[in-house]
Amino acid sequence: MSTSTKLLKLLFISTPVGHLGSGLGGGVELSLYNVAQEMIRRGHQLQIVAPADSTGNNLPLVQIPGNLQIIAQSQSRTAPINMPENSVLANMWDYARQVQNNYDLIVNFAYDWLPFYLTPFFDCPIAHLVSMGSLSNALDAIIKQIASQFPGTIGFHTQTQAETFALKQQCPILSNGIDLSLYNFCTQPKHQLAWVGRIAPEKGLEDAVAASQITNIPLKIMGKIQDDLYWQKICQDYPNAPWEYLGFLSTNQMQQVVRECKASLMTPHWIEAFGNVAIESLACGVPVICYRRGGPVEIIQDSKTGFLVEPDSVTGLVNAIARLDEINRYTCRHQAETEFSLSALGDRFEKWFYSVTLDKILL
Ligand code: UDP
Repeated sequence: MSTSTKLLKLLFISTPVGHLGSGLGGGVELSLYNVAQEMIRRGHQLQIVAPADSTGNNLPLVQIPGNLQIIAQSQSRTAPINMPENSVLANMWDYARQVQNNYDLIVNFAYDWLPFYLTPFFDCPIAHLVSMGSLSNALDAIIKQIASQFPGTIGFHTQTQAETFALKQQCPILSNGIDLSLYNFCTQPKHQLAWVGRIAPEKGLEDAVAASQITNIPLKIMGKIQDDLYWQKICQDYPNAPWEYLGFLSTNQMQQVVRECKASLMTPHWIEAFGNVAIESLACGVPVICYRRGGPVEIIQDSKTGFLVEPDSVTGLVNAIARLDEINRYTCRHQAETEFSLSALGDRFEKWFYSVTLDKILL
């Protein structure tokens, strides 16, 4: 059997900030499910390791107990690395250490210092998928060190994200993909807009609510409330805006609402690594209006599949909403089909996994 057709034994280690299915992990949850599903479809063997209470979505899953990790976004850039007692992150990696000889490759989905630090101590190669831009000096330093010690093992989602670590040249860029059959196209939207994401300050939901108030177009808000005080403040500041909060929805429920919207608004106040919600919206034929910042700039085709507007400008959002008739919704769906299908995702990740395991499987 040639190296390129050897089927791999893969161990995926999930994020330690929440159980899979909770929404607390943000886009990394969907990315993990989708890469896993596509690898299994291609015949690779795979096991997911995730915090207790995780939902496996019919994928093979080992649940590990322990306390969750604090999210990196809530800490300062210079904060030291923090681990709770009985850390689920440490427990998952202890499990990985014990079973590593049964696998060709471990894939790390955690945005945390520990898995990078542990890399040289493992016999099994480790591929790290970095799911956010640079936020912590300590994490930046260890990522840089591993990128140089183990070339090609660190993957980013977009060039813009890789640039925040000054690692654009050295590292593979792996954009996400989705199961397009789960997202239905709708030609005739209702008079409403969508906002989908974790409800946390870096996502800038208040700007979308302000745009909905100015245009008087109802805004359907979907996502996990990660920061309750932030959410309460938005409710207080915009009591009369025509928004409606629908909760954290399943992919199917979410796409049923999104596809009937005139557009999705994305209002990141940080450098979004990728922006799964952008490709999910496009898959429904729904254009995306987003600040010209971070990963979505590499996804949205300005004036074709959405609009890229001046960062933090609510006026920019409002002006783009007025131009939505210029967008052909079929072009949006077509972009998702050509660039962000599960098979396109699988080609990108499979190539990366083979490149990281090459030395091992040639032995
Ligand atoms: N999401 C969901 N249900 C909701 C709202 C959001 O499943 O009601 C998911 C969405 O599918 C996406 C993720 O939450 O995969 C948000 O990921 P994104 O990459 O846009 O941002 P992140 O949270 O990683 O910063």
